[in-house]
Amino acid sequence: MSENLYPVPESWAKTARVDAAAYERLHAQSLSDPDGFWLEQARRLDWIVPPATAGDWSFDEADFRIRWFADGKLNVAANCLDRHLATRGDQTAILWEPDDPREDPRRITYRELHEQVCRFANVLKAEGVRKGDRVTVYMPMIPEAAVALLACARIGAIHSVVFGGFSPEALAGRIVDCDSRIVITADEGRRGGKRVPLKANVDAAQKHAPVLEKVIVVQATGGGVVMQPGRDLWYHEAAAKVSADCPAEPMGAEDPLFILYTSGSTGKPKGVLHSSGGYLLWAAYTHEVVFDYRPGQVYWCAADIGWVTGHSYIVYGPLANGGITLMFEGVPTWPDAGRMWQVVDRHQVEILYTAPTALRALMKEGDGYVTATSRTSLKLLGSVGEPINPEAWRWYHDVVGEGRCPIVDTWWQTETGGHMITPLPGATALKPGSASMPFFGIEPQLVDGDGALLEGATEGNLVIARSWPGQMRTVWGDHERFFQTYFTTYRGKYFTGDGCRRDGDGYYWITGRVDDVINVSGHRMGTAEVESALVLHDKVAEAAVVGMPHDIKGQGIYAYVTLNAGEEASEALRKELRDWVRGEIGPIATPDALQFAPGLPKTRSGKIMRRILRKIAEGDVSSLGDTSTLADPAVVDDLVANRVG
Ligand code: ATP
Ligand code: MG
Repeated sequence: MSENLYPVPESWAKTARVDAAAYERLHAQSLSDPDGFWLEQARRLDWIVPPATAGDWSFDEADFRIRWFADGKLNVAANCLDRHLATRGDQTAILWEPDDPREDPRRITYRELHEQVCRFANVLKAEGVRKGDRVTVYMPMIPEAAVALLACARIGAIHSVVFGGFSPEALAGRIVDCDSRIVITADEGRRGGKRVPLKANVDAAQKHAPVLEKVIVVQATGGGVVMQPGRDLWYHEAAAKVSADCPAEPMGAEDPLFILYTSGSTGKPKGVLHSSGGYLLWAAYTHEVVFDYRPGQVYWCAADIGWVTGHSYIVYGPLANGGITLMFEGVPTWPDAGRMWQVVDRHQVEILYTAPTALRALMKEGDGYVTATSRTSLKLLGSVGEPINPEAWRWYHDVVGEGRCPIVDTWWQTETGGHMITPLPGATALKPGSASMPFFGIEPQLVDGDGALLEGATEGNLVIARSWPGQMRTVWGDHERFFQTYFTTYRGKYFTGDGCRRDGDGYYWITGRVDDVINVSGHRMGTAEVESALVLHDKVAEAAVVGMPHDIKGQGIYAYVTLNAGEEASEALRKELRDWVRGEIGPIATPDALQFAPGLPKTRSGKIMRRILRKIAEGDVSSLGDTSTLADPAVVDDLVANRVG
């Protein structure tokens, strides 16, 4: 299926930072001489004390350690701000697009951002925040969210961002887990014309998080909030009392920069801890090479700052590179499904980075919203978060990008800090649905269930055989869980939890999480393949596939299908879809049960939570597990009520 090749456009091959030959050479060098390679790359950062050592790591239990540039000292905020002041102080750093298109965008220059960050850092200091303290950030998508992160980085405090869509309970759990006595929030957030009561949520969270002592409130909407004397302070009042001068704290490269909880698709979220030096290098280097970023280009990563994508590719990567980062407060579907393309036109966006879940939601509304806009500024498109179905890929490529823009389908994880397997626009011929090739320094391997290395064109469990600078350093407060989760399944290797196929050209195809692999009569099948086949059908907007117990086959296939706007569910369509999958993949892939679902259970970051679908398919609806990270718990009730079989 969909193995057609999209060659590198000639203009890209000529002008991009890395062409096919350079990719081969640099990748080989990054593996044969990692120390030389990474010490050279480290020079792209501004060090207070330049490192003399690169990687110092072992994935073995006896001397388990992960360290990069350990003798170097730097400050992350200074790298993102101070060093740009002389050359591009008056250039836009953050370009902010409000939720409501009738309002004006905001442009914040590097000089202004620097001043705001220094002030915010001084407010934190005045509140007793010291190097190593944890600061929870529960903010809407406003520039002050980025300011808050950089302020923490400036004084060496460890930020822990909690997505602004999470409930008070989810917030409380994360505050308690990392023992954070201070929260930065806003009065309210805005998304799609609706208000989100952030400050009130913090108040509610405190009941379950007694450790919380201080709440700094940024005035975003002016909506009324109740301030608790002694605990709460308005940011604008505190900022007026402090100086705009705040020296950047010299930090060891291995000092923590932030904690971020994973999205919880597979279970209880883990507090992923990232370093200062290695992480920043990874974010900056991948941002520059994968997006072929050039200073002056308007670059838009449409993620939320609450996810790692927002950390690495809205804040740290682009700002370390002196870029213009567009920050969008709103949602892709409000006021209408053309919003993203209108933003592209309004700001002449050249690079757009978004998620398959958003693309599928927009694709379902038809091409009209896209074609009503110009999009001539677009040069490069990116995808992240899930395997992108070839159907959605082609729509992105042909309709959104009018066939002109390469797509970088970036596979990575909260744990990896940044891109791991991805095309480079000037180097990699594209195959829709394949994340393609490893980035520099990355050595992916496929292993079978016993850990035996699989060579050539094959399918197996995706592991990474060596450390890279952006790798997470621990699970906050539980180093043992870190080792157990990632390094014991396959000794001496980092286990990603994902299944993967490698084709004859050496391209990697993520097939979904290993836990989701279905075994039908002895045939192992990735969920992504069956889902892509379903989505290929004209009437299908989205599909999720899980295994269910089956007397004869061992496991059967249970498919949940969301139809396009205006399509009616019927028995005839059910049969048609089952036949369709049979025709696309083969009889073995025919869904045994197919349920029409108006919505699918998704995490707040838009990922389908298959473990819940699996329970429903199994008929085990009493123990659905941790559903606290679900975007819309009501979806589950409908699925349970309409389960088939
Ligand atoms: P948890 O680890 O708590 O279950 P999560 O894995 O959803 O949550 P993230 O770190 O946000 O948390 O997601 C990483 C996962 O997303 C990857 O392991 C992979 O399964 C999927 N993924 C991300 N990008 C891609 C991509 N381009 N192609 C295929 N899969 C992707
Ligand atoms: Mg994960």
